[in-house]
Formats: sequence, C-alpha cells, structure tokens
Amino acid sequence: MWGEPEDVEGQCNAHLYIGDDYGDNHATMRCQLCKGHEGLHREEFRRGEKPVIITWEVDEKEERRKFEEEVKKFEEEEERLEKLRAKDENKK
Ligand SMILES: [Zn+2]
Repeated sequence: MWGEPEDVEGQCNAHLYIGDDYGDNHATMRCQLCKGHEGLHREEFRRGEKPVIITWEVDEKEERRKFEEEVKKFEEEEERLEKLRAKDENKK
C-alpha cells in the first residue's frame, strides 16, 4: 500500500509529511480526528501490542496547497509580463 493515505469521510484528514534518517523514504501521517476538531492533529496506530500516537500542529496538506497556489499565481504573473514584453517588442 504505497502512496498518500486516502481521506476518510467525516475525519479531519490533515497531513504531516515526515522523512526517514537516510533521506530516501517519506511517509504521510493523516489526522483521524473528526472534521473541525480543536487542538493538535493526531494519528494513532499500533506497533505490535503497543499504541503509537503522533500529534502535530500544522496541516501540511493545506500548507502545500497554499504554496502551490502561490506558485501558480507567480507563474500567471510571469506569463502576463512576458506577453506585455512581447507586445512592447512589436511596437519598436
Ligand atoms: Zn486534525
């Protein structure tokens, strides 16, 4: 089962991306709390008999979405400027 975890309906689904010590693998934690919960995001799973609980503050999925939006805006602006420059060139 590789790839990002599927969202579960009714749950928060916030992500935390973590890397390993060797830099060749990464994993996605997914918040299992209910949508709109307060406080830290949280994923809980079992390692053998013992529970493992991970909590975090920032939804990195949302952060990534915002970042991609910014990049898109920047690219659109670049394109717009490029067109203006081309127009300017034609005038000369
Ligand atoms: Zn959450």
